[in-house]
Amino acid sequence: MTSKCTTDCNLSINVVSKNSETDELNKKQRLHIKNTISLCPECLDKIPAEIFTEDGSVYLSKYCSNHGTFQDIYWSDFELYNKFCQSHVVGTGVLNPAIKSENHLLDCGLCEKHTTSTILANIDVTNRCNLNCPVCFANAKRSGFIYEPNEEQIQNMLLMLRNQKPVPCCAVQFSGGEPTVRDDLPELISMAKDLDFLHIQIATNGVRIAKDVEFAHKLRTAGLQTVYLSFDGIGEEPYHITRGFNAFPLKNAAINNCRTAGIASIVLVPTLIKEVNDHQVGNIINFASERLDVIKGVNFQPVAFTGRIDQTEREKKELQFQIFY
Ligand code: SF4
Ligand SMILES: [Zn+2]
Ligand SMILES: [Zn+2]
Repeated sequence: MTSKCTTDCNLSINVVSKNSETDELNKKQRLHIKNTISLCPECLDKIPAEIFTEDGSVYLSKYCSNHGTFQDIYWSDFELYNKFCQSHVVGTGVLNPAIKSENHLLDCGLCEKHTTSTILANIDVTNRCNLNCPVCFANAKRSGFIYEPNEEQIQNMLLMLRNQKPVPCCAVQFSGGEPTVRDDLPELISMAKDLDFLHIQIATNGVRIAKDVEFAHKLRTAGLQTVYLSFDGIGEEPYHITRGFNAFPLKNAAINNCRTAGIASIVLVPTLIKEVNDHQVGNIINFASERLDVIKGVNFQPVAFTGRIDQTEREKKELQFQIFY
């Protein structure tokens, strides 16, 4: 069957239906989808890129005249990509952009070229961390400098989000680095609450919450609603690879301390790596479903191939998501 992609490519694309030999042959062919603009991962210049499909997957290929060609899987399932394209909507952006951007790809925040409003704002409150995970994409401790906006700066960020028009942002996540290394995190949460954010969460490794139930209590009374907790599996094995030590006991302690402190919304966030913990998906869901009094969700994230992960490890660890009908 033929389907029109509703993004700006204006091209018709062959969607491969199942159980057809011809379609199976077509599926292997390289078909251009659209041209776009991307960034060179080495020099961060804007460079031309092509999105194409081949062998059932969608790829992004880009070329920098100084650093050569880069190619990555964009979507591992072309049919799913096409399905999402058909629901693609271009929004109207914000009426009062915070900045005028020279280069939307590098310094948007939000700029006038941005076409969506903010649903969940992510505020990095520090780049310090109390762990040193091999899979870290935040590169905490690596940058050689401390990034830590002060309370006034964070208040200005929160105000800017609440003032966005026509849709004010009403959900915020404090992250890092590790946000709980800041002793004033309860004050930052109170600030967001006073500005009428409807949803306030932190992205955390759970170390401080596991060790300090009083701190967990302070976070809750300040207005924290959800703990977005990194959680890579059941038992010690995955943690040695993802975190460099057996972090499973501390994850359990963090969950228990949230319960004690009255925080009744934890989202487990497994970083999935092929052959490390992808076989644990069912076990993780079971673990969560047995603790529904405090665990309200699981958000699986594939390992991000940036920051500390070795480029040569990419293909070995890359996850290919398959959709089963
Ligand atoms: S806990 Fe998070 S921020 Fe800290 S090193 Fe690990 S992945 Fe990076
Ligand atoms: Zn380059
Ligand atoms: Zn922008």
